Amino acid sequence: MATGLKIKNVSKVWNPDGPSPVPAVRSLSLDVELGEFVVLLGPSGCGKSTLLYIVAGLEDATEGAVTFDGLEVTDPSPERSLIFQEAALYPWLTVRDNITFGLKIAGDSPRKMDEAAERLLRLVGLNGAGDKRPHELSGGMRQRAALARALAVEPKVLLMDEPFAALDVQTRARMQAHLLNAWEKSKASVLLVTHSIEEALALADRVIVFTARPGQIKAEIPIEAARPRDMRSDEMIALARQCEALLGEEVEKSFKEQESL
Ligand code: ADP
Ligand code: MG
Repeated sequence: MATGLKIKNVSKVWNPDGPSPVPAVRSLSLDVELGEFVVLLGPSGCGKSTLLYIVAGLEDATEGAVTFDGLEVTDPSPERSLIFQEAALYPWLTVRDNITFGLKIAGDSPRKMDEAAERLLRLVGLNGAGDKRPHELSGGMRQRAALARALAVEPKVLLMDEPFAALDVQTRARMQAHLLNAWEKSKASVLLVTHSIEEALALADRVIVFTARPGQIKAEIPIEAARPRDMRSDEMIALARQCEALLGEEVEKSFKEQESL
């Protein structure tokens, strides 16, 4: 039986045996259901990326554990795909070959790879760009190619660390629409990190607001409004105010801490 992603009591201390250990995440528990879109919102430096790397299997938790479908996460796996702010595409490969890279490694047939590439190029709005190389694309297009590549291996969990932070506001809104479209079709669970309240509210089934470091859950805000959401509706404005208040307190705390160093 599939049970989704469970983060149980996870703590992470960086450099635990060094002169100045850094507690980044503390006793954090969070379940993400199959197909659920969860957004982690928090001030910079509060441990969001740290938590994502642990879920990706790239870092070990100091305490606690992450399980997916009941199995403990100990290593990276194609079932949990991670996308960073800077799209990490291979510059020497075409967009199409970047997208099918994981399938090639898995030994898929050329025909299957071609079909997947065409379907994914269409899904992220890059039809016609399959033969281009990454340097010929705009930032938004590169990030869409990275999304298509992440989706190619049909991950059960899509982990995204501020994927659109480097893009301009208009491109960002378009990217969010592409992401929602891809997510709805893929049925994957998503865990996306952002410091943008607007982005969190546009995307999430549930927003998890982090405290300042060490990151803990300060609040959970379910959002039921249908997508695409009108950010100017009374409901969304009220939610944005709520998030601003919660986040504002934590930003204040993390500035105070930085000033006292
Ligand atoms: P966020 O993604 O919320 O901005 P991070 O998870 O990147 O925060 O960082 C949380 C804290 O952990 C910060 O104080 C950061 O300096 C520290 N940190 C992150 N990565 C490492 C690392 N590899 N080694 C030591 N400290 C780290
Ligand atoms: Mg980060």
